[in-house]
Formats: sequence, C-alpha cells, structure tokens
Amino acid sequence: MKRLVLLGGGHAHVHVLHAMAQSSMAGATALLVTPYARQMYSGMVPGLVAGRYDADACSIPLEPLAHAAHVELALASAVSIDANARSVTLSDGRVAEYDVLSIDTGPVMDRDTIDGARTHGLFVRPIEHFVRLLDPLLTLAAQRAIDLVVIGGGAAGVELAMAFSHRLQGVGDGASRVALVTGGPEPLAGYPPAVIQRGVRALRRGGVTVLQETCVGIEAAHVVLGNGARVACDAPVLAVGTSAPAWLAGSGLALDPAGFVATGPTLQSTSHPAVFAAGDVATRVDAPHPRSGVYAVRAGPPLLHNLRRFVGGGDLSPHHPQRRTLNLLSTGDGSAIASWGGWSAEGRWVWRWKDRIDRQFVARYAGINPAA
Ligand SMILES: Cc1cc2nc3c(=O)[nH]c(=O)nc-3n(C[C@H](O)[C@H](O)[C@H](O)COP(=O)(O)OP(=O)(O)OC[C@H]3O[C@@H](n4cnc5c(N)ncnc54)[C@H](O)[C@@H]3O)c2cc1C
Repeated sequence: MKRLVLLGGGHAHVHVLHAMAQSSMAGATALLVTPYARQMYSGMVPGLVAGRYDADACSIPLEPLAHAAHVELALASAVSIDANARSVTLSDGRVAEYDVLSIDTGPVMDRDTIDGARTHGLFVRPIEHFVRLLDPLLTLAAQRAIDLVVIGGGAAGVELAMAFSHRLQGVGDGASRVALVTGGPEPLAGYPPAVIQRGVRALRRGGVTVLQETCVGIEAAHVVLGNGARVACDAPVLAVGTSAPAWLAGSGLALDPAGFVATGPTLQSTSHPAVFAAGDVATRVDAPHPRSGVYAVRAGPPLLHNLRRFVGGGDLSPHHPQRRTLNLLSTGDGSAIASWGGWSAEGRWVWRWKDRIDRQFVARYAGINPAA
C-alpha cells in the first residue's frame, strides 16, 4: 500500500476527497492534514461579512468528507517538509512519512509587510481566523461608530470594503465609516476598464471612501499613508497580496522565485515527481496563471486523475488551465458585477447568479453522507 498524504483542505483536495468517497483510491492509505475541521469558501466570505450568509452556509466540513473517503484526519498544520526523506512534520510534533504527497495549503499573508500590521492588523488569511473577528467588530460598532479601513485594492479588498460598509450601516447608529486604501492605483487595477468603472461606482454608491495611496504604517488608532496622511482607524483589515508559506523554503522542493512550489503540467513538482501541488501554493512553470479560487477549483479533477494514476499505475495527463474565467464580484448591496474577458454586466440578477453558483459549490461537497 502506498502512503498518500494530502496537505491542506483547499479547493482541489475537497474535490479529491469527495471523489475518494465515491470510489476509493485503490492501493493507497491516505492522511489529510488540515489545521481546521472545515474549509471556509472564500468566495462567500464577502457575503458573510455583508450579513447574507452565516458561517455554516460558507463552509465545507472536512471531517465527514475525510470519514466518507476513508481518509485519516490529522487536525494540525504542516510545519516542514523533507522532500528527500519523504516526510512532513506536523505542528503537533508528529512526522508523517509518505510515498505520495499532495500539497493544497493555499498561500499565506506576510504579517510584516506594513509597519505595525502584525500588532494591529486584521488579516483576511487565515480566513478561519478572520471570520472569528467579525462578531467582536460588530459588537464594537453597535456600541459606538467605528472607522474601518480595508487595505488592498484587489478584488477581495474591494468586495470586503463594500460588504463592511453595507453591514455597518445597519449596526448601532449606522455612523461607522469604511475607507479603502488601494496601494496607489485605482481599485480593481488589472481588470478591464469597464469593470474598474463599475467597481468605482459601486464603492461610491456604498459610501466607501477610496484612497489611492500606499499604506506605510498601522498604529493603534490610525493608518499612515505614503503621503503622510493619518487616517482614523479602529479596524485595519488587511487584504494585501499573499505570499508563499515559509515552511516550503527548507523542503528541498524546487520553488519559483517567489517561493511557491514549482510544478509541471501534470501538477507534479519539477524536482520531486512524488510530490503534487495545486491551487495558490503552486506555480505552473510552463504556463503561469493567476492565483484564484477559480483556478484552484479547476485543478481538482486533473489532480485526482493524476494521483490515481501515480498510485495505481498508468500515464499521467497534463492539466490545461483555462486562460479566461468568469469573475463575479459582489457589491454588498444585493448586487454584483460579472466579467468575462472584455465583457461585463452588473445587477441584482448577477448577485443571484453568483449566489447560486457559490451555494451549489458548497452543497456539492458539504452534503456528503458520512455513513456512505
Ligand atoms: C475575501 C476573499 C474573497 C475571495 N473571493 C474569490 C472569488 O470570488 N473568486 C476567486 O477565484 N478567488 C477568490 N479569492 C481568492 C481565493 O481565496 C484563493 O485563490 C483560493 O482560496 C485558493 O485556493 P487553494 O485551494 O489554493 O487554498 P485555500 O482555499 O487557501 O485552502 C488551503 C487550505 O489549506 C489549509 N492549510 C493552510 N496552511 C496549512 C498547513 N501548513 N498545513 C496544512 N493545511 C494548511 C487551510 O486551512 C485551508 O483549508 C478570495 C480571497 C479572499 C481572501
């Protein structure tokens, strides 16, 4: 029997586990290592912040999924990998030896990227920690109006700013304020111009103050901007870019220049073929693609196929990530913006569309019968 270790309960691994529950992976015993017993679906987190979902509606319980897949569960994090010795050390001190390793742990956020962030910042990752901050924040806002500043002008930052603004309007006296610090460019930089315009209009409609500046420091009651301005802030929410987990550095695995696992078309490490990696923790060196949930989800079926082949024998197949994906951005007010290449649209119907896709994704994997 080959020992398969699945590191992380990310999008691709949720698919692998679900498929293993339907049809076991012959010839392997498997261990899932995950710090949390549920996988919070990030695409629904802005909806959770806006008050449209509760946490259960946005999460996939991993315990029943692992149980149904006959996969042992270790509620721990990987703290190091020794790819030459084929072992993973876990945060509880255990060492898991493997014949095949699959990594889907997602990225991390650098806590020292902005002065004071480690002490005062509310980081959106780990998402599990972030969602636990929501109730205390809302309790504070019910007692007095707060100033909340979202730092990071990408899709997650923009969605969260609008979600918070919408939610806080209904809390306490409704006088809390939300600002978005973009880092310099317009919000949603990198999106087509029409999407940026839609986003800017939605932010304005939602009452979010947009500051096209860099955040250079975070203090107890202010954020400090590159132009020297100090903006009142009780809650600095950090949605800045993500980075590679530090524990990959000493693993012996080939990494890309940013420290993510370098893989080829079969999702195998370019240095260690017994190691697979998918989602945001990996970089396809032959065809780099953006780090996004959509790509991470799509890596599930090819990863499953290649793990089965690697364990059971047979040729592995290349994964061809799609270049263009449908992007759906919620605006917090029951509306959303859709874009596909140069095409874009917005309205309440787009929100209903996004809501249906997201709920179906969670229901597909959360609905597993543990007794199956
Ligand atoms: C608020 C927000 C909204 C977003 N909305 C969208 C969206 O609408 N569409 C989209 O495409 N993208 C979206 N993204 C980006 C998206 O979250 C990521 O691209 C996606 O989560 C990457 O999936 P993944 O499977 O690689 O990793 P993750 O979803 O991060 O899953 C990784 C898993 O591994 C676990 N893990 C972490 N470290 C370890 C460790 N050391 N050992 C073991 N397990 C570990 C984690 O607990 C987690 O369960 C959003 C991001 C945020 C923050």
